[in-house]
Amino acid sequence: MSDQLVFTPLDEIEKIYNELKATFASGKSRPIPYRRYQLLQLAYMLKDNIKLFEDALEADLGRPQLEARMLDIDPSLVEIKSTLAGFEKWARQESAPFSINFSPMRPVIRKEPKGIVLIISPFNYPLFLTIPLMASAIAAGNAVVIKPTENTPATTALLANLAEQYLDTSLVRVIKGGVQETTKLLEYTWGHILYTGGGKVGKLIAAAGAKTLSPVSLELGGKSPVFVDSKCDLKTTAKRLLWGKAANAGQTCVAPDYVIVQRDFQEKFVEALQDVYREFYPYKASASGQMSRMVSPQAFTRVNNLLKNTKGTIVLGGDTDETTKYIGPTVVKDVKPEDCLMSEEIFGPILPIMPVSSIDEGLAYVNAHDHPLSVYVFSQDSAFKAKIFDNTQSGSALANETIIHPAAYGLPFGGVGPSGSGYHTGKYGFDMFTHLRSSLDAPGWLDMLLGFRYPPYTAAKIKAMGRLMNPSFPARPKGPPKAHVSRASWSKWFTFLLALALAGGLMKRQFLKM
Ligand code: NAD
Repeated sequence: MSDQLVFTPLDEIEKIYNELKATFASGKSRPIPYRRYQLLQLAYMLKDNIKLFEDALEADLGRPQLEARMLDIDPSLVEIKSTLAGFEKWARQESAPFSINFSPMRPVIRKEPKGIVLIISPFNYPLFLTIPLMASAIAAGNAVVIKPTENTPATTALLANLAEQYLDTSLVRVIKGGVQETTKLLEYTWGHILYTGGGKVGKLIAAAGAKTLSPVSLELGGKSPVFVDSKCDLKTTAKRLLWGKAANAGQTCVAPDYVIVQRDFQEKFVEALQDVYREFYPYKASASGQMSRMVSPQAFTRVNNLLKNTKGTIVLGGDTDETTKYIGPTVVKDVKPEDCLMSEEIFGPILPIMPVSSIDEGLAYVNAHDHPLSVYVFSQDSAFKAKIFDNTQSGSALANETIIHPAAYGLPFGGVGPSGSGYHTGKYGFDMFTHLRSSLDAPGWLDMLLGFRYPPYTAAKIKAMGRLMNPSFPARPKGPPKAHVSRASWSKWFTFLLALALAGGLMKRQFLKM
């Protein structure tokens, strides 16, 4: 088995596409037992080869073993397991809700595979952003083409080799390649294209999908802001933020990108980060097995340049080594909106802190930019948390935690607007690759009720139609509702009324005792 990444010849791609198309048309991928078999093969492909995958991730990204397991391998296994547990139920056809007009026609939603689907994955989590998606596509009964990234050659070569050994190659194929191979793939019509990566390429993928009318989901990135309130659990905040930023050397789509704090709280927050840094790295962060490396020399240079050109003050880390593509966890304070660190998604282990005079100023900054993949808030004050959540838009919104939510059981994962479209993991991934095929079977006797539709059209038939189809509505509104009252205000009023009721009850009891 070769561990070199040899690209799939361009002229083989058409052959592979046609082969998969023919197998899909034969119906082989549809039976539930066959889907279950393929899912189990996928699970064992990973489970039998954990050590090989750990080594490949180390070769590609300098991944510490704990990060390889926690962020790529184990969550992929968990995802396959939950897909295995749920997919049979998700695949069952559903009856439409009762309606007097349509129920006699037995309307149902058939859950059908979309066909051959294309999954294009990025380098930063080359397993977690590929294998669970393969599981969703297989569980939904599709044929699948995977195009993993060329930027993690060891992991991609291993995945391609093992897929050939474990999976049915007439239904699942891995195309090894870069821009040329992906561009070739995009010439074909797909049941669905799922692309995970940066927004610039995302636009090319969406445009290519439009040309063949292939539906496209985009899982993109962006600058995920963090609001840190002075009323936070400072130690936990510093720990979770520094970990969320340093994990995989900051090459995480949902990494906390920058922090917004009240100006007078900045110093205390920086001290907490420095304390945690000493705890996390009693030796050096660059010590073997402690920190992932930048994926490529180009990625190193880009992030290193941001560090060299910032006008903020480095208060933590700042150590780099070009030969090993190492950038240490770094915190930069007093970063201004026009700083280079605020100009693009950092995708490296640098945490800029942007002090503001008021939280409204921070909110205005965030809302003047693209909707991020995540918004984070660290606070013990529910009104503060609600203010941030209610006044921003993002793929996800987390309080007092970072980066673990893509693996959270039962939650959809996806962006909004420029951070992406579509949702995956669990049932949401299954649904992405499933066509909801409306279906009904109308008995002849229904024409006793619906015969009015046939010509010749007459006044009596119009009347009969009105009786069946002209719905009534609640009374006409007297005007628009009162101005929006935020949830925070509601909870304040609720607490106030509850306190009033309790006080009233107490006074009544005192009065009766007298
Ligand atoms: P990458 O360079 O590995 O590219 C991603 C994929 O796109 C690869 O398979 C690559 O071969 C293909 N590709 C690259 N250029 C192409 C082109 N011109 N035409 C066709 N295909 C092309 O990864 P990346 O884009 O650097 O990934 C990092 C980005 O991905 C970050 O912005 C990150 O936030 C985002 N991301 C998003 C998610 C999410 O789930 N929303 C997850 C991980 C990463």
